[in-house]
Amino acid sequence: MALLDILVYPDERLKKISQPVKEFSDNLKQFILNLEETFRSFPGCVGIAAPQVGRFERVVLVDISHKPQHENHGFLILVNPKISSSAGSNVGREGCLSVPDYTGKVERSVSITLEALNEKGEKKVFQMKGYEARAVQHEIDHLDGKLFLDRLVSRRNALSKRIELST
Ligand SMILES: [Zn+2]
Repeated sequence: MALLDILVYPDERLKKISQPVKEFSDNLKQFILNLEETFRSFPGCVGIAAPQVGRFERVVLVDISHKPQHENHGFLILVNPKISSSAGSNVGREGCLSVPDYTGKVERSVSITLEALNEKGEKKVFQMKGYEARAVQHEIDHLDGKLFLDRLVSRRNALSKRIELST
């Protein structure tokens, strides 16, 4: 396995639209393992999308299970994810591996129905809400070349500089 380099804003490649996965090859499996290892190397991180490491295919990983106060489905490998319905909206603060120095307030749907393939190409359907639904919406945005910076609720007060902790 190998750690992959994260593309950081304002890298233009973060604006590219990712293509659907068509073939569930060994190469894809190996890539997903490397993506997971990269993801796990950032403690506290809740998701990563393939284009963030320069592979422009529709693959995202989401795992909020280390925040057990939020309902979740555990570790998710989502290939060609698609939100088939959504309801409600709320504003929450988001961060991103590709925007390391800032967090921002973004409006998202509260609950979603998500369809995706797993790493074997099997179709799965999830009902999710709250923080997990937010994380999935954030990651799917990456597949469409969007960052949370494109969705800030206002120009003023929506963006905050991360405070460096000394430890
Ligand atoms: Zn992100």
